[in-house]
Amino acid sequence: MGFDNVIGHKKQKAFLYSTLEKGRLPHAFLFTGPDGVGKKKVALEFIKMIFCENGDGCGRCRPCLKVEHKNHPDFISIENTQSIGIDESRMISREIQKPPFEANMRAILIDDAHNMTPEAYNALLKTLEEPPPFNIFFLISQSEKEIPLTIRSRCGRVAFGPLSSSEIRDFFQGIQSIGEEKAQLITYLAQGSIGSGFFWMDVDNLSFRHRIIELITGKKRSFLQVTSIAERITRSQKDTNMFLSFMLTFFRDLYLIRESRRTNDLINIDMRGLFDGDYRDYKWIINSINKIQETLSILKYNINRLLSVETLLLNIMEHRV
Ligand SMILES: [Zn+2]
Repeated sequence: MGFDNVIGHKKQKAFLYSTLEKGRLPHAFLFTGPDGVGKKKVALEFIKMIFCENGDGCGRCRPCLKVEHKNHPDFISIENTQSIGIDESRMISREIQKPPFEANMRAILIDDAHNMTPEAYNALLKTLEEPPPFNIFFLISQSEKEIPLTIRSRCGRVAFGPLSSSEIRDFFQGIQSIGEEKAQLITYLAQGSIGSGFFWMDVDNLSFRHRIIELITGKKRSFLQVTSIAERITRSQKDTNMFLSFMLTFFRDLYLIRESRRTNDLINIDMRGLFDGDYRDYKWIINSINKIQETLSILKYNINRLLSVETLLLNIMEHRV
């Protein structure tokens, strides 16, 4: 029940629990940390604890179930922050001036808070400057820097780190019986994020890594293939981030092999065969890492994903020796 449902993050959970115990809840929490480590899950379980009839986020009482099913009248969950325009912002700020309906408090969860529109930020700021005592905000973001300082400074901040390898491995071995090698590979690829782990548990995603590598290390240079692979990579923002992050791990593996010739620190352990010999050019590895990082950082802005990834793949193929 409650926090027991959430893997890892012992310190963060203990801190949150103590604010509730001591009756020292701030008007707003800002949860930051990498994608997919469980920030929103912690917030949801904590909101259950605040509303719970048994006081511990039992998961069985009416308020807990209503939070779980997102139909509690005092729980507002905003997931698509980019869509909050001026009208919605005004409506939300009017709404939260009213006392809660059923609980003693109202919880407002804003996911991807760094994507909020300026209108929404302004409305939020006003609310945080003169907060009605019964509201508690949970702002969730992978990027603390992108949250305006005026907002940040009014929040109780909780930083989440990646989960440990053993936490990730135990989790995935617990939900599905997978072989030792696959569990290890998923754990390495997940890089501390349960969300990423789920992505790589998908067989299609996992095997598509090989297609990408065949393209960029292979002899053939077909534009048609570049386009088809780039289309698959950019199917969604999430896919794009995951596959580009994978490419980074691939070049990191190549780099490690070149530098230390050790194979026991590899991430892509199923690609060991590809790392044999020292035919990979050092400049090519470094150039590729730089280009992938550049692409990842420009992709945060609303630019043409497909075109950027095509350009990236062509660049990597062009510099291959
Ligand atoms: Zn409960």
